[in-house]
Amino acid sequence: MERSRNQEKVKRLAAALKSGAKLRTESCPECGSPLVEVKGQVMCAICDKPVVIVRDETEAGRAIYPYILSTLEEVTVAKIDELTKLLARTGDPEEIERIAETIDALISVLKKGLELQQSLREKEKPS
Ligand SMILES: [Zn+2]
Repeated sequence: MERSRNQEKVKRLAAALKSGAKLRTESCPECGSPLVEVKGQVMCAICDKPVVIVRDETEAGRAIYPYILSTLEEVTVAKIDELTKLLARTGDPEEIERIAETIDALISVLKKGLELQQSLREKEKPS
């Protein structure tokens, strides 16, 4: 079973190389197979998926910033939504104050996150 799967991998890799793909020194983060380059696009012949090559940790970090920020945005908006519902339900002045403060903090997190997304997008633009 395992062996036939490996043979299948080798076959696919060989087929990719035969059709003009170049072998790269990096390996696939998902399956560990050597990556190939087809028309300037680095990809895994086994997973049949393009792979983004990052040169160092800093770049790796930067590559996931947009993902982290959009997750942050989603979570923050969902929390503000929850708290707004809570706010609508309560009549306790202290609780209202607490919820309002929390919403205020969340909005500033959201605002900063959006500003950061904006500045990342501007940096990506070719100057
Ligand atoms: Zn792979």
